[in-house]
Amino acid sequence: LRVPIYRKDGTIAFIMITGIDVQGTKSIWQPRNLPENFSTLLVNDEFYFIFVSPLSRGRMADWYEKPIPKSTLDQLDLTWFRQPGTKLFDLRDRNTVHRLVMAEHHPDWGITSVTTSPYATLYYALYERLRYFLLGIMLFYGFALVLYLLINRQEKAKARELLWNASHDTLTHLPNRFFLRKKTQQWHAQHRRYAALFLDLDTFKGVNDNYGHPFGDKLLVVIAQRLQHLIDPHEYVIRQGGDEFIVLTTRPEAQIGAYAREIRAALAEPVTLENIVLHPSASIGIAHYPDDADHIDVLLSKADLALYEAKQRKSGFFMYSDMLEERAKLRYTLEVHLRKADRKKEFTVLLQPQLKVQTLDIVGVEALMRWESPVLGAVDPKAFIPVAEETALIREIGMLIMEKACMTTMDVWKRTGRRFRLSVNCSAEELLYDDYVGHLLKVLEKTGFPGTMLTIEVTESVFIRRVEKAKKVLNTLRQHGIGVSLDDFGTGYSSLSMLSGLPLTELKIDQSFMVDIHKDEQHLAIARSIISLGQMFELEVVAEGAQEEHLVFLKQFGCTVLQGFAYGRPMDGQALCDYIVSRSGAQTVSR
Ligand code: C2E
Ligand code: MG
Ligand code: MG
Repeated sequence: LRVPIYRKDGTIAFIMITGIDVQGTKSIWQPRNLPENFSTLLVNDEFYFIFVSPLSRGRMADWYEKPIPKSTLDQLDLTWFRQPGTKLFDLRDRNTVHRLVMAEHHPDWGITSVTTSPYATLYYALYERLRYFLLGIMLFYGFALVLYLLINRQEKAKARELLWNASHDTLTHLPNRFFLRKKTQQWHAQHRRYAALFLDLDTFKGVNDNYGHPFGDKLLVVIAQRLQHLIDPHEYVIRQGGDEFIVLTTRPEAQIGAYAREIRAALAEPVTLENIVLHPSASIGIAHYPDDADHIDVLLSKADLALYEAKQRKSGFFMYSDMLEERAKLRYTLEVHLRKADRKKEFTVLLQPQLKVQTLDIVGVEALMRWESPVLGAVDPKAFIPVAEETALIREIGMLIMEKACMTTMDVWKRTGRRFRLSVNCSAEELLYDDYVGHLLKVLEKTGFPGTMLTIEVTESVFIRRVEKAKKVLNTLRQHGIGVSLDDFGTGYSSLSMLSGLPLTELKIDQSFMVDIHKDEQHLAIARSIISLGQMFELEVVAEGAQEEHLVFLKQFGCTVLQGFAYGRPMDGQALCDYIVSRSGAQTVSR
């Protein structure tokens, strides 16, 4: 170590020198603890090396005895030295070893300490220190990543499931309405023309009512499977809801009718569920894109209209035409006016005579409802009664008509001195719901009309809907001495076996068979067998729509009662009094 001693004027008076055996085994200067490739230097402000480590013994004289050569100094950035504070910088030597240099000037001692360390060593040291930490972090993140992937996979599966559930029907696994709406754009882009078949099971409500909803569900699953089996891969079958299905097909228009028939035939195959054999049948409404509509919702509503028509006509399937829309509008108008009608005033009843075939004496009257709307005028019962049934308004109107019919009939009895039966029509919508018998008995009590002189006319639709309930209600009627007539017989689906279990007192041959029995052999045969059926079950048989030329047949076959315009039109109380008087010559008792 050299320490210059200065005079007052700044010149050096002498230099104190001392030596340290830096290489001695006991020396604290031994850089034993320095990591590999580290070097440390101490340089004084006069540019003498004071300490260099590592340094071999042989080279010590070169380093320590002379100041740093001027040439070297010129290359160095002298701001390293003599500047207070710590400086850090990079150094790349000839071997391109990349080092970090730290220089620190100690002004009190006039010394700069310089430490150089290769980055590689630093990094390694850093790594040594951090490796467990890094390993920990990596493990943590690895674990988190695996967890994330697992959850993500589960979430995706869940999302897929949710989407599937939202776009499919859980019962039949068919695509649903949501799916249809989602796919339509794609479908429209792919196909210039296609047909929508709107399909509805006939009498499915009856299956639910008779065997319960779980049973109905099983039938729906079978139907769905059949449909799926039937369609081509590029066609769609969708469960619209309830017992309604939609098939979208691009088959040529000319083949759609045959396709509808094919579908109906496949669905009509008997189904055996829980040992019960069912004969499903379906009605189909068809609409074409883009001829009938260019929006899926409109298209489906038109197919639905065609379906309604197919059901009404019992034609199996029906193609949409603009006429249907006109009809639907009319139906809507009817509903609106029906709802706001002043019922007591607008609804009246006419009575049509029923005569004994053998003597042509009056034995009864059928009450027929009439509606005179202040806006629409007289509306045909065949037009408004189905609407009143669908809206359940028939229940209220039906009882009103019952009351009016009872009162008018009793009035005619009183005025003519003749007693005859009264028949009143009753829809399935009235008979099967509400407490029909209770309401009826109240009317009888109120009017004083004897139940034994009353017949209720029902149609086969009553039994198709809920046979057990219908039987129960009809039996109760019979217990009160009220007659039960099966109206429009022969037009529905009644089986003989069903007929035998019903508490009937009368069969009415539908007028569609009567019209031409004198010309049509087949209709004559039908009328004849209905009459013999009635005789077999000891029932009254009424020939509806009877004409004068039928009388011979009716007498010959043993039909008991006739009813027809030719023998008496539906008429009001006064006209009926006149009618009876004119036929019997009896005196009318005036009011
Ligand atoms: P329905 O019970 O079969 O009634 C007989 C229908 O045949 C009546 O038609 C009657 O006017 C008509 N008719 C009778 N004889 C002849 C004939 O010789 N020739 C022709 N062309 N027709 C004849 P209406 O009054 O138009 O009633 C139609 C249907 O409306 C009835 O058929 C019945 O199902 C229903 N209906 C009528 N009144 C009521 C009612 O008060 N309640 C319920 N629920 N339905 C009713
Ligand atoms: Mg009738
Ligand atoms: Mg009838």
